[in-house]
Amino acid sequence: MDEGYPPPRPEESGLIRVLAPNPSPMTGAGTNSFVVGHGDVAVIDPGPAIPAHLDALLAAVAGRPVRAILVTHSHLDHSPAARHLADRLGGVEVLAFGSPDAGRSGTMRRLAGLGGGEGVDADFIPDRRLVTGDTVAGDGWTLRAHHTPGHMANHLSFEWMEARAVFTGDTVMGWASTMISPPDGDLGQFMASLDRLENLDARRFHPGHGPSVDDPGARCRDLRAHRLAREAAIFAALPDAPTIPALVARIYVDTPPALHPAAARNVLAHLVHLVETGRVRADPHPRPDARYVQM
Ligand SMILES: [Zn+2]
Repeated sequence: MDEGYPPPRPEESGLIRVLAPNPSPMTGAGTNSFVVGHGDVAVIDPGPAIPAHLDALLAAVAGRPVRAILVTHSHLDHSPAARHLADRLGGVEVLAFGSPDAGRSGTMRRLAGLGGGEGVDADFIPDRRLVTGDTVAGDGWTLRAHHTPGHMANHLSFEWMEARAVFTGDTVMGWASTMISPPDGDLGQFMASLDRLENLDARRFHPGHGPSVDDPGARCRDLRAHRLAREAAIFAALPDAPTIPALVARIYVDTPPALHPAAARNVLAHLVHLVETGRVRADPHPRPDARYVQM
């Protein structure tokens, strides 16, 4: 169950990771679902609605009282099992930031024709909404919600106060940089969320995919540097490559062609942010088939 994942630190006693059987180019080894607590417990990100995974989660809970089912964000690899698990447990509350379009920035609400919407669990509705600062607690554990949009507008991260650990969902992953696909994804929000996560001064991140991160500050700085380098490369290439397909062909030379559609979504996210911050102009406006020029 925990192959390739480091054991919990002493302060994290009671933590169980259950890896969902949904490996793919976008999910790595699969989705990490977590059970937190000794006596009563919380479940974080029940994952995809795969019966074997649901059974594995129930086995990890082992009949203990479940205080809440927490969902980082409503993508199909994170949220669909929440309702099934709640039902199997006899009506435990599902807690999350909100419906799939909750938390969008003004820019993303304003721009039309962005496409996107990959992998959204469109029917997801939590029983109760959490905002930054809300806590869920049990015997010896406290989880505090932090709104961390960027990968998805309704993304929450959960800070485990006693362990100084953070469940970062897809905002910070353990194996790759995250997909940012407008209008759910927003690069400006993502950069602000990285700052917020770094400022929590955690000892460990538990991402939604990949192994845990033992130097959260360094990981946040690496991800920030990666995005800024990508942004600089896009900006510099614009005079010769004024469209998204041209930019992808030029910048993602080492990326397998199968991942170029995902790369194109990330490039669009960068271009929306460059337009939003006054460095690039889009004709007619930021969208997949627009032309872009430096200001
Ligand atoms: Zn996601």
